Amino acid sequence: MKKENIEDTIVALATPPGIGAISVIRISGSNSFKAIDSIFAGKVKISGAESHTVHYGRILDNKESIDDVLVTVFKKPNSYTGEDSAEISSHGSPFIVKKIIELLLNKEIRPAEPGEFTKRAFLNNKIDLAQAEAVADIINSRTRNSARGARNQFDGKLSSNINEIKQKMVNISSFLEIELDFAEEEIEFVKRNELEKQVQNVINEINNLLDSYSYGKIIRDGVNVSIVGEPNVGKSSLLNSILKESRAIVSHIPGTTRDIIREDVSLNGFLFKLHDTAGIRFSEDEIEKEGIERSRNSVRNADLILFIGDAESEFAESLVSEMKILNKDAKTIRVFNKIDLIDGKGVKADVYISAKTGENIDQLIKILVNEISSTNSYTEKDAVIVNLRHYDCLKTAAENLKKAKESISKSMSGEFISSDIRAAVFALAELIGEVTPEDILNNIFSKFCIGK
Ligand code: GDP
Repeated sequence: MKKENIEDTIVALATPPGIGAISVIRISGSNSFKAIDSIFAGKVKISGAESHTVHYGRILDNKESIDDVLVTVFKKPNSYTGEDSAEISSHGSPFIVKKIIELLLNKEIRPAEPGEFTKRAFLNNKIDLAQAEAVADIINSRTRNSARGARNQFDGKLSSNINEIKQKMVNISSFLEIELDFAEEEIEFVKRNELEKQVQNVINEINNLLDSYSYGKIIRDGVNVSIVGEPNVGKSSLLNSILKESRAIVSHIPGTTRDIIREDVSLNGFLFKLHDTAGIRFSEDEIEKEGIERSRNSVRNADLILFIGDAESEFAESLVSEMKILNKDAKTIRVFNKIDLIDGKGVKADVYISAKTGENIDQLIKILVNEISSTNSYTEKDAVIVNLRHYDCLKTAAENLKKAKESISKSMSGEFISSDIRAAVFALAELIGEVTPEDILNNIFSKFCIGK
């Protein structure tokens, strides 16, 4: 994002482009109401309207009526951006939207950059940086849990947690600073073992947040599930059965699923990214070789592996060892398929299903969901880290606090300890945007859509 002038009044379409029932055009900045009044004919002047009121009228181009619209007025500081701003709801025609925006651009208003409305909300102290980032996550959320996580962050749960931790560090460091002022008297304001304890407590709190990141990634980005097994065991059929729709190729000719078919599905509020692989097996066929390489990649990136067997192939042990080499961390769930033909009870598996009849697919789904929820005890009340930037800031803070702790145990001067603690404070200040450099801010907001 180029360096834009915050004094400018900006305009953008806030709803998706294209034909729709209505479109919403958003305007923010000191010139908003005057500009609208110059193209709007209604009962009242927008400049004189109360905040949070809606006004019916017409948009005029010279004397020609363009559309009937509703204008919602938000007066500073009680608006999303903290500035005078308004939303024009017009009919959802790309022509009308273009025309209204053109008329406004003639009134000393410029087009908004991506994320500029939210950036202004941040710069005007309506929200901090972690909350601003949550706005993008709310928009991008595709499941109940990702929406909930983003919502919590927007409501300031993470920010207040970070502020508390930061305040504790500031308190510790101010004691040390006072002590330094009295250096000649050699007064120790805090006993060193007490100080060490306090620093360790803060490290523990930060570590708890860092630990939540693996769950945060799951709720934000979903879980990669690789469906693996010998050809013909029913991998594609299982994918279809889970999706309850026939999108993957179901065929009895071995090796036809040459490309990875990926389907995203929300199960119990979690996003599962299901990969139907071509099967990992030796092949001379060039196209199939490529497919097999993609299967390997899918297994490498998997969080969970659904290993499918049937009466004919059971669970190929050569595959098990190959999967372990590719990915030793992913949990493998053994699924015995085709129980409509043979119940498979003699074969050791975690679940026995029929992809064809749909029998026990619900059990399999329960196992998948359980894999995530049982290993994570986070509740709605907990702050969860979902963002890599936040994770990195917390990690820097923890590393500096560890250094501070080492300095304490080596009985080093308070100066050293205090300097490490200040570095940790700085990392958290960066997380919530108190001291974040311009290029990082630009990078964050440029990833937003225009109009947000
Ligand atoms: P993939 O190669 O592992 O993807 O296997 P497919 O899903 O293409 O299935 C191979 C064959 O097994 C097809 O003819 C399917 O109709 C059949 N099949 C898959 N699941 C079942 C099942 O649960 N019961 C029965 N009877 N046939 C199945």
